Amino acid sequence: MSTKDEDDKLTFFYSGDPDIEIFRHIETSLQEEGHYVVEFYNEFLIDIYLLLDKLKSNYIAIDWDNTISADQEFFIDLILKLKKAGYSPFVCSLRAPDKDNIREIRDILEIANIPIYLTNGKPKRKYLKSLGIKVLLWIDDFYPGICGDSCKLLPRNNIEV
Ligand SMILES: [Mg+2]
Repeated sequence: MSTKDEDDKLTFFYSGDPDIEIFRHIETSLQEEGHYVVEFYNEFLIDIYLLLDKLKSNYIAIDWDNTISADQEFFIDLILKLKKAGYSPFVCSLRAPDKDNIREIRDILEIANIPIYLTNGKPKRKYLKSLGIKVLLWIDDFYPGICGDSCKLLPRNNIEV
């Protein structure tokens, strides 16, 4: 059982198939940590979105600000577990790719040793696609940063905007 204070608990949104392997890994970690999962879209309640994209991929794109930064210990542990399970998690942030940003993220995630992509404000999905990277799961507090408001990713994950 988690010893987290109520104020430190995060609410995650996931509306995909509950039997998909990647979700089962994450769900277990969330439960152990005392975080919540909801399956209905409510922007006032949800802290972080889990959005399924390309099911054949094993890349997991995790946002930095208000996502990993919201519970660093939890996410470092999750990243290590996902790597062990054969997935390829990495950081994808809208931040500018300058040295200070990279150093801050790299220092905190040192033990996890994963790639860091900084898109400089460009939509993440398009940016990664240009590098040949298709993503299985997005973990992000701000879905418009992934592909704007009108992308198919959202209705497919039962987000109506
Ligand atoms: Mg963010």
